[in-house]
Amino acid sequence: MDLEFSEEQEMFRASVRELFEKRFGRDYVRECDAERRPPREAFEALAGLGCLGLNIPTEYGGSGASAVDVAILLEELGRGFLDLAFWVFRNVSHGGHALGAHGTRTQKEELLPLVASGEISVCFALTEPESGSDAAALTTRAAEVGDRYRINGQKVFCSGFRVSDYVMVAARTSEEKHGGITAVLVPTDAPGLTASPIDTLGHWPLGTTLLSFEDVEVPRDNAVGAPGEGWRVVTDMLQYERLCLSAARAGAAQAALADALAYAGERQQFGRSIGTFQAVSHKLADMQVMADVSRMLVYRFAYRLDRGRATPRDAATLKLYVSEAYKAIADMGLQVFGGYGYTMDFDIQRHFRESRLGVIGAGTSEIQRNIIAKTMGL
Ligand SMILES: Cc1cc2nc3c(=O)[nH]c(=O)nc-3n(C[C@H](O)[C@H](O)[C@H](O)COP(=O)(O)OP(=O)(O)OC[C@H]3O[C@@H](n4cnc5c(N)ncnc54)[C@H](O)[C@@H]3O)c2cc1C
Repeated sequence: MDLEFSEEQEMFRASVRELFEKRFGRDYVRECDAERRPPREAFEALAGLGCLGLNIPTEYGGSGASAVDVAILLEELGRGFLDLAFWVFRNVSHGGHALGAHGTRTQKEELLPLVASGEISVCFALTEPESGSDAAALTTRAAEVGDRYRINGQKVFCSGFRVSDYVMVAARTSEEKHGGITAVLVPTDAPGLTASPIDTLGHWPLGTTLLSFEDVEVPRDNAVGAPGEGWRVVTDMLQYERLCLSAARAGAAQAALADALAYAGERQQFGRSIGTFQAVSHKLADMQVMADVSRMLVYRFAYRLDRGRATPRDAATLKLYVSEAYKAIADMGLQVFGGYGYTMDFDIQRHFRESRLGVIGAGTSEIQRNIIAKTMGL
């Protein structure tokens, strides 16, 4: 499969890239990161370009674009600012995709136009203190009380909560492990819902939180998908999420490589640029190959998703390879920078920190290998 894009897609890519080059450069990214502040100005600018409703049907205020278009957007955002890409990813995945595919007509009419305009954002709470990789073992309970759900329990690592208006909560509505889960939309300001920030190695601009639900009540109409169908909603969303996160990380990996390449050309030791030492140039060559393969996997997956042919194995392959490649590229890139790579003066340290999350969040690399191995007839 060749990576050829239409003229329209190339123009769209150029417009997103230009936004970074002209309005939100490296200083902006460094500032948001150091101050641990959400990139609201850039998010609003993307709303102005119509990016937030990219995959939302036109009847609900979006552009009805393809998964390939979404991958282009997130690749460029990841190249410029990974945490901004992670905010936008929540709009297109938890908002546009999940509500579009599983929401009721009322939910779509009321919420999708607001997601498209950037007026609301949606985050996702699946993981709990006692259920991480074994996500379906969750115990947060949504009890039926008349026409409402009363939710009690704890969720951990809910990211982007502070920029979100709704959190999509995977909650237990009956005892059956997978068949007893329901996805429920909860306003982030609901009485009884409290969020405590968790200090982490990275992901600072959006942040991650521990959520406590104490008798939080929402209408049962807030269920996304039928009661007991939540696991289907979650797995479908995770598949789409794997495209979004991987496209963003493929873009970030290219940015890390570009920085290391430029530094290798400039830094002089032993009277020559360090890039002329074979030990350094081979590192850069390996990084280039990983960046290329990452891109190919992203667009192969998006292409298959658009045709309804993407399998869980494809999604696991994509997530596993691209996140491991970004981690390796960031690590090798930091080595090219020598001691300066370890300082906070260069962006490579941010890639080093951010890439570490890729092999853990949204299903660890071990779990992706389990998914792939299961399909191999062992
Ligand atoms: C910064 C950050 C942001 C996050 N954002 C979100 C979010 O927005 N929403 C959300 O719901 N979750 C989020 N997560 C949670 C994330 O998805 C989980 O951390 C992840 O799925 C792993 O779960 P765990 O941390 O409980 O690890 P555990 O499941 O306890 O795993 C610990 C180790 O054991 C290994 N392991 C476990 N089971 C197996 C097995 N069967 N085979 C082989 N190895 C195994 C794992 O691979 C890992 O190495 C986030 C996490 C972080 C760190």
